Amino acid sequence: MKLLYGGIELGGTKTVCALGTGPDDVRALDRFPTTTPGETLRRAAAFFREAPQPPAALGIGSFGPVDVDPTSPRYGHILDTPKLRWSGADVAGTLGDALGLPIVLDTDVNVAALGEQRWGAGQGADPLLYITVGTGFGGGVIVHGRPVHGLLHPEMGHVLVRRAEGDAFAGHCPFHGDCLEGMAAGPALEARWGTRAEHLPEDHAAWPLEAHYLAHALVGFILTLMPQRIVLGGGVMHQRQLFPLVRQQVQTLLNGYLDRPQVRSEIDAYVVPPGLGDRAGVLGALALAQTAHAPLAA
Ligand code: ADP
Ligand code: ZN
Repeated sequence: MKLLYGGIELGGTKTVCALGTGPDDVRALDRFPTTTPGETLRRAAAFFREAPQPPAALGIGSFGPVDVDPTSPRYGHILDTPKLRWSGADVAGTLGDALGLPIVLDTDVNVAALGEQRWGAGQGADPLLYITVGTGFGGGVIVHGRPVHGLLHPEMGHVLVRRAEGDAFAGHCPFHGDCLEGMAAGPALEARWGTRAEHLPEDHAAWPLEAHYLAHALVGFILTLMPQRIVLGGGVMHQRQLFPLVRQQVQTLLNGYLDRPQVRSEIDAYVVPPGLGDRAGVLGALALAQTAHAPLAA
């Protein structure tokens, strides 16, 4: 019998579980709202318990901040978060106890980056940067095939960006006000324009301004990490008209500084939407389980 793997994308608003071996071989999939830790993790455990075949290992892509250091006693615990009921929740331990499986955990964006590199729009690109612009703003980075960690996992949403001229919006981050997430994530758009981002028309003034902040962020990340490609996902990036606006502003800001075709004539293939669409996170979690337990698959 072929070994199957489990993936869980634990998101701030929804949770997705999948069983399979890759995008073309998903044997079961379920989505449900992220509520309390107890209820959410019980439902995830039930999904795998009732699955047609138990997975060989389970990968989790979690919202952060979360302890991703496998040598830490708090590995797999959610750290202090404004999402109050989740502060301190032992995600990996709870699921490990419930299912008795090997578990590996990383951030939602690091696993999405891993999934995109293996099966999606990031194939052949390393370093690969994956960014989500959704309820939060997050970035995951793969270098030499592995998600980047250091003091913690990257927290790219909270970098500081240059204000657009005449922009008086205070910003929406409870910690920093006008950091990147505070200016450009979905809730910031809603606070600024008084309506949910998905209800803003395609030609609304919101989008060039959004592109300003995304492009400033991208230029900083490009110059720091020199990624071979950047995948831009998350709900807000469903606004496809943002892509040409962002690419153009990236080029304007770089002003010819980086002499690489990827940021010049080939930028359409450099800043791209996810190849796995909204399944990037859960499939990435599956890829993480596979990667971590490759010996089992051999
Ligand atoms: P999450 O970040 O919770 O995993 P999403 O990536 O779907 O979920 O992000 C949700 C955010 O994206 C919300 O702020 C929502 O207003 C915004 N959003 C969702 N769909 C669209 C859309 N089509 N256009 C613009 N914004 C959207
Ligand atoms: Zn912030």
